[in-house]
Amino acid sequence: MPASAVSSRPHVTVIGAGLVGLASARALLNAGHRVRLIDRCDAVGQGASARNGAQLSYAYVAPLASPALWHQLPSLLLKPDSPLRLSPRGVLQDLRWCLAFLAACRGAAARRTTVALLELAALSRRELERWRDEGGAPDVRQNGKLVLLPDAAAFASARTQMALQARLGCQQQALDADACRRLEPALADAATPFAGGIHTPGECVVDPMAMSGALLAALQRHPDFELRLGCEVIGARRRNDSVEALRLAGADDLPVEQLVLAGGPGSAALARRLDLSLPVAPMKGYSIDLPADALTRWPTVSITDSARRVVFAPLLDGECRRLRVAGMAELVGQDLRIDPRRIAQLVEATDAWFGLHVPAEAAVQNPWAGLRPATPSGLPCIGRFGGLRNVYANAGHGPLGLTLAMGSAALLVSAMQQRAAAINPLPYAAGPLAWV
Ligand SMILES: Cc1cc2nc3c(=O)[nH]c(=O)nc-3n(C[C@H](O)[C@H](O)[C@H](O)COP(=O)(O)OP(=O)(O)OC[C@H]3O[C@@H](n4cnc5c(N)ncnc54)[C@H](O)[C@@H]3O)c2cc1C
Repeated sequence: MPASAVSSRPHVTVIGAGLVGLASARALLNAGHRVRLIDRCDAVGQGASARNGAQLSYAYVAPLASPALWHQLPSLLLKPDSPLRLSPRGVLQDLRWCLAFLAACRGAAARRTTVALLELAALSRRELERWRDEGGAPDVRQNGKLVLLPDAAAFASARTQMALQARLGCQQQALDADACRRLEPALADAATPFAGGIHTPGECVVDPMAMSGALLAALQRHPDFELRLGCEVIGARRRNDSVEALRLAGADDLPVEQLVLAGGPGSAALARRLDLSLPVAPMKGYSIDLPADALTRWPTVSITDSARRVVFAPLLDGECRRLRVAGMAELVGQDLRIDPRRIAQLVEATDAWFGLHVPAEAAVQNPWAGLRPATPSGLPCIGRFGGLRNVYANAGHGPLGLTLAMGSAALLVSAMQQRAAAINPLPYAAGPLAWV
């Protein structure tokens, strides 16, 4: 390609090399842009993306902000082993976010969010399948998901949600407890009672690190890609209606042509450093891995324990099998310490469903804490910052960033190239963002 043609293609700097930034970089390169990806970490995929729940959760997208939460809130806040925890510091730090979250706990708002997220999830699925057909995608396994409900009331409310989603094209079925055990024999001797479950055969699992690795490999094959690690953005230089350079910690200013903020749970702080705002708060969660031989019974379907809010994803690395167990939601600021009581709760939940025949200390691998980049409504922020010509966001994917990364990247490209998007983009380009 002649040099003049290369330099005429817009150059995009993406801040944040988590799953969302990596997928954005890939989609931008495929659409003909030159791309520079920068991150303060020394490797890609180190933030929220590192060891998440591994679920491609295309049908389970209903937001945390829902009217049901008003009834659940007292017990969620008061029970000592509750999956939800709010620290006074976390609430004060993100007070505006908390108020906006409570305002979003309305039926109509939750339904609108669910519809929009189902569309984005379906787009993500199509984009991932397209990548698989082209070659180079990570190993994705469609093993289905079974969400187990503790009692008759929870089962009835899950069936109502299933009926709403059936009208939107989701294929799910309600199963009583015996049918759940027939579908997943590993539940046969479970110590936890349950009333039934919702089965979604189309749900998938993928190791998030394999996904980051495959995205990086695709990027590094591209001649127009540049990666800068160990590079923290601390500010920006503006001229009129654009950002013309980034200020970096301990390095010279970096001139930019077009800019994408994909800072995950650090997006609000990153936006503030650029005199912008994004409604993203860190929602802490935990995960562990358990090798198959530590378990009495090995599940093949992904299981969600809806009462404990814990997910179980069976992962295969060749012959090696491990169960990824993830859960909890804590609003505690940017505190990434691993609370041993939370790890113990994940182990107890695993023992109660599948049985552990070795001591927990011997079984638990890779205990991890990560921060979900949560928005009050549950919708990610994708679009251009109002009033700025060249700055975009792709952030705030909450508990669904692994699922939504591919579709969000496709939407971002449509925004940057000012062309029609595959789905209605307006729900994501709200607040400080505009679509074109
Ligand atoms: C316990 C847990 C379980 C989860 N389970 C699932 C699941 O099963 N399925 C699913 O779909 N999703 C799941 N998620 C959510 C998913 O992990 C996140 O939504 C996703 O990883 C967010 O990706 P990201 O790229 O936006 O953020 P990150 O992966 O955090 O990446 C952001 C990057 O930006 C960089 N950055 C930030 N600020 C700056 C700066 N100033 N300068 C330079 N670099 C900067 C950071 O270093 C980081 O690398 C889970 C999350 C958690 C915590």
